[in-house]
Amino acid sequence: MPGNERGGAGRNHWFFLKGMPAEPERQVDLSPISHQLRNVLRLKEGSVITLLDGNGAAYPTQIESLSPGGATGLVLAKEPVQGEPAIELTLYQCVLKRERFEWVLQKGTELGVSRFVPVISSRTVVRPAARLLPKYERWRAIVREAAEQSRRGRLPVLGDPMHWEEALDQGGGVRLFAWEEAGENSSGLRRAVRDADEVALLVGPEGGISVQEAASANRKGWLPVSLGPRILRAETAALAAATVVMTMAGELG
Ligand code: SAH
Repeated sequence: MPGNERGGAGRNHWFFLKGMPAEPERQVDLSPISHQLRNVLRLKEGSVITLLDGNGAAYPTQIESLSPGGATGLVLAKEPVQGEPAIELTLYQCVLKRERFEWVLQKGTELGVSRFVPVISSRTVVRPAARLLPKYERWRAIVREAAEQSRRGRLPVLGDPMHWEEALDQGGGVRLFAWEEAGENSSGLRRAVRDADEVALLVGPEGGISVQEAASANRKGWLPVSLGPRILRAETAALAAATVVMTMAGELG
């Protein structure tokens, strides 16, 4: 993608960079991403990239020096990022087999999920929460890469793992759980999501949600959401449900 001559946060490469924000006309140290700039993207001095501070601002920045020893850039402007959704969607996703769960992290980030919470339920494949913690570094890298690629202004957060009952006590705003046994969606669902600024969405594991777990969710005020009469794989359901919520919230154009 050609750099954008105007220096706007246009169609060039985006990077979350620790230590931002910097003001226009200020020099920034690009060393943390110099390998990616030089060896992966083969960019040159003079190319324009876009730096993100993770708080919704984008900084078109011109590469001034790019060598094995390090890299510096000159901040050209500070602009608001358009890519952040107005609605705060937290996806409480029951832990899935490795590549499926990672797929949900990537696609959920692209669709605008703000926070992911891995949930352990009676039928999840991975049991103790402690066994999930070593995966967080890789999961954060997947989320970061997807957030840069999709031009998010904020990095989605990875919450600590929790059990089903704990998750039921956590959710804020409109709380929905994708349930394969749910009947027709209530007419109020669309209105509830449309007017919400925060939605919690709970999706089961490959093995499904037990009757007890569904009863507990209902009892604690989570609204069951049907995604139609077909049984979707958990990762399909997660993305379909996130798409439904983002559509109802008017975030998909
Ligand atoms: N119990 C299913 C397997 C679970 S599907 C079976 O009989 O094979 C995995 C998860 O995706 C479910 O727990 C639910 O959260 C979600 N899901 C799948 N299909 C759905 C549907 N039609 N409506 C709502 N949620 C669904």
